[in-house]
Amino acid sequence: MSTLTELYQEIERCQDCELVKHRIKAVPGEGPEKANLFFIGEAPGWYEDQQGLPFVGPAGQFLDELLASIGLKRGQVYIANVIKCRPPGNRDPMPGEIQACSRWLDHQIELICPKMIVTLGRYSMARYFPNQSISKVHGKTRKQDNIIYYAMYHPAAALHQGSLRKIIEADMLKIPQILAQAESLPEAEVEARQLDLF
Ligand code: URA
Repeated sequence: MSTLTELYQEIERCQDCELVKHRIKAVPGEGPEKANLFFIGEAPGWYEDQQGLPFVGPAGQFLDELLASIGLKRGQVYIANVIKCRPPGNRDPMPGEIQACSRWLDHQIELICPKMIVTLGRYSMARYFPNQSISKVHGKTRKQDNIIYYAMYHPAAALHQGSLRKIIEADMLKIPQILAQAESLPEAEVEARQLDLF
């Protein structure tokens, strides 16, 4: 059994916060054992809770379209969430839940070894772009410990606020170039290429 599968089993047994009482299925994440591109959403919703898989509802359909716009299928990237169990009624995750769940995401990142992490929405953005607002930071990168972090609006935001759709689509189209640089260049050169770092 692979280490990633073992990790999924541990997550499925997790009782570290109250969300365990409400969940149907934990949603550990999905994707290859090694992936250069790693997307982090917020939390499972109703569809994800039913299936135990991330981004399988309407927001996931839009994410699939966004991936297709850069020539990727979901099986080529890793997809996870900040928290692994659905908050009741799809409410926002609470700080204690995010903290309790953080070790799982850390462990996933360690195993998958991505070169680029794309944060989808405010909660995953806050992990890597602390004290920033998504309206300012979306479409921007930051580099730390040989990983490039790239912030985007959550795909669900486009479903609620149509005007964000074009912004999200445009931000997605920037990924291949950033990823190619992250994959091929040594650290110093990536920075020298002026990737919009701040
Ligand atoms: N929204 C998320 O943030 N994650 C999912 O898995 C589904 C919807």
